[in-house]
Amino acid sequence: MTEAPPLPMVLHCPRCGMQHIDQATDEWSNPPHRSHACQAVGCGCIWRPADVATTGVERTITQGRADNWKPGDLTAGQQLGAVALAMFVDRQRRLNRRSL
Ligand SMILES: [Zn+2]
Ligand SMILES: [Zn+2]
Repeated sequence: MTEAPPLPMVLHCPRCGMQHIDQATDEWSNPPHRSHACQAVGCGCIWRPADVATTGVERTITQGRADNWKPGDLTAGQQLGAVALAMFVDRQRRLNRRSL
């Protein structure tokens, strides 16, 4: 019995939020895999989104009429990161102003 071909999915790293897209490269043939390794520099997260082989794609072929999130939109983690960064920059700015 042969295994079903990998299920195409929009995958994001659960740790850093970076989208995971599976593509063959010169060093890697992209064989069917269940655990995915995040490619973000310094992340190192390896996770299994399902108990079957999946393949990270840029987008699904179909989209639902009521879908209100599309690939390329920020994930919850990225949104939190952006808010935290804005707060940090604002705080630094205020601190700098005080020391002048
Ligand atoms: Zn990651
Ligand atoms: Zn992968």
